[in-house]
Amino acid sequence: MYAHHYWGLTVNGSSETIAIDDLTVEQADQELARLAAILGKANRDYHTADAPTLDDATFDALKRRSASIEVRFPALKRKDSLTDTVGAAPSDGFQKISHAQRMLSLGNAFTDEDVFEFDARIRKFLGFSDNDGLDYTAEPKIDGLSLSLRYENGELVQAATRGDGEVGENVTLNAKTIADIPHRIANAPTIFEVRGEVYMSTQDFAALNNRQLAAGAKPFANPRNAAAGSLRQLDSAITKSRPLRFFAYAWGEISTAFAQTQSGAMAQLKNFGFPINDLTKICKNPVDLVAHYQSIEERRSTLGYDIDGVVYKVDDLELQKRLGFRSTTPRWAIAHKFPAELAWTRLNDIEIQVGRTGALSPVARLAPVTVGGVVVSNATLHNEDYIAGRGGDGELIREGRDIRVGDWVQVYRAGDVIPKIKDVDISKRDANAAPFSFPAFCPECGSAAVREDGDAVRRCTGGLICPAQATERLKHFVGRAAFDIDGLGAKQVEQFYADGWITTPADIFTLKDRYSTGLQQLKNREGWGEKSADKLFSAIEDKRQISLRRLLFALGIRHVGDASAGLIAGHYSSWAALELALTSASIGEGAEWDELLSIDGVGAVMATSLILAFQNDAERASIDRLVAHLNVQDAVKIENVDSPVSGKVVVFTGTMDRMSRAEAKARAEALGAKVSGSISAKTDLLIAGPGAGSKATKAIGLGIKTIDEDEWLALIDGL
Ligand SMILES: [Zn+2]
Repeated sequence: MYAHHYWGLTVNGSSETIAIDDLTVEQADQELARLAAILGKANRDYHTADAPTLDDATFDALKRRSASIEVRFPALKRKDSLTDTVGAAPSDGFQKISHAQRMLSLGNAFTDEDVFEFDARIRKFLGFSDNDGLDYTAEPKIDGLSLSLRYENGELVQAATRGDGEVGENVTLNAKTIADIPHRIANAPTIFEVRGEVYMSTQDFAALNNRQLAAGAKPFANPRNAAAGSLRQLDSAITKSRPLRFFAYAWGEISTAFAQTQSGAMAQLKNFGFPINDLTKICKNPVDLVAHYQSIEERRSTLGYDIDGVVYKVDDLELQKRLGFRSTTPRWAIAHKFPAELAWTRLNDIEIQVGRTGALSPVARLAPVTVGGVVVSNATLHNEDYIAGRGGDGELIREGRDIRVGDWVQVYRAGDVIPKIKDVDISKRDANAAPFSFPAFCPECGSAAVREDGDAVRRCTGGLICPAQATERLKHFVGRAAFDIDGLGAKQVEQFYADGWITTPADIFTLKDRYSTGLQQLKNREGWGEKSADKLFSAIEDKRQISLRRLLFALGIRHVGDASAGLIAGHYSSWAALELALTSASIGEGAEWDELLSIDGVGAVMATSLILAFQNDAERASIDRLVAHLNVQDAVKIENVDSPVSGKVVVFTGTMDRMSRAEAKARAEALGAKVSGSISAKTDLLIAGPGAGSKATKAIGLGIKTIDEDEWLALIDGL
């Protein structure tokens, strides 16, 4: 549902949202013109007016779309296309300076895989094997303004901005006001161009904005804009009053070589008196690069200045020379960008989805936007209060601003979870936009949708007669952590439900009796045959034997997730004991209630939900009909396990050769381990198979013990 890289939404048939593969020549031409206008304006605003009108993520997404259309329709490429350019042409207020050597931008990496590919590309280009040594430097990418300083005979004679890479602006007088930039350097080559980044510390930025506000002036959007605006003042007295800083990281024209390696050059720059970033590190391979990236990312908010990624460069300058450039970027360097966590986009529509517990969930349909390197076109809106600008306790959120269809909204992704809406820009709201009216009836079955006291969510009261709830329950029932029946996925369940073949879970286990002989047979259905039908029947037979944990999770009782199901199953051990306890329990009192709450991880809300499910007549009938078809296996009692992994938090990653991931997880849990999906400081052990990727890297960074599958099997051998 939360599609990545999905451009296929259609809004008013405009070409802006047509998938690139579907564009006609006319539409592509129109679209390139439209993108060129937007990007051109944004680019000018960004570089010239020092006030961005488009956020970076949107800009990048539009630029990529433009580039992709050009790949499909090369003949339509415009003269003003931005896809090959770096930065913007200089503004008119400053004298122009042609760079003796072009100032380039870097290619970008967004994922760990991109970094491994970068290394592989370089090795291939150089004819290096995997074993040939290849050092890299890794340094924070300062989010500021690039500057080129030209020294002749040790004297600073010129400072120029990057401009479009070929021609920049002469800001020599202003650069001389920056304390970090030496006016004279000793023992340097006769001609020596030093390049680096002008930036403003976050603390100085905050103080500057306070002064701006006190003086009735407009505050700057971020430290980068403040640095750019300050450096590009026509009056250098103003620049001098602004606390600008400088880091050196590269060079342009030089009359004589001054180092053999990137790291050696950095050390020399430091000797000459330039500040260099002390987080720069030599890395031996891409695993080291990614580890250093992660350690810098973790410290990002504490550095005192903004960075937007980590730059990797081949250390050996001779190799840099051999690698050279492709169009506008060097082959020997890449910028590994941090995810752009936030992006603004338009809310095209709000749709209501009905879940398996009847919850009406509002989903934002967005104009696609890149957030954290991923194109997002849907986001959750939680519930009606959230849309109205109220939080869980009735408090105001977003200062009470509500969200309406057509609004500009700020999207964010926390970790890898479903994108969310953080804020709304009501200054861009259409005057006719109406507040969103949340439906009081289920859009799927028409039953009343009510909100009970204390529930943030409006729920369909249709129960099992609601097709949305019934199909969602069935989909949950056949899901991976539940019955996991081969050949019976969400799609098949929907089709069987639509035709009345399966309406509740118990019907799955009578499918063979009803549809293997007679007038209607599964093998005669469209998309099915004798073989696939037999396969499904036998896959269903296999699942008549099911663990207590899977069964309990599969029932889809509100608040009872996979982990809770495991804890509850581990406690009661058998279906008979669990059923008896929940049938005789009273909500809020009695021995059965107390026993439920004694289970670690079970609270009053979950306990109530369990009791209600087992004591509601319709629900209970459905459960009993199902269980009559099953042979429920007892759970291993967790507290009795004595094993080397008992009580340990373990994580599996990569591929396993001798057992599936699901089996490995089940084994570990049977031995008393807690199996987690992600690495954290709490992880005790990582079991990494081939292709382990970023989890293994992270584990190394955190000093977590990592073993392979063989070592794991040896560890649990005989248990
Ligand atoms: Zn309904």
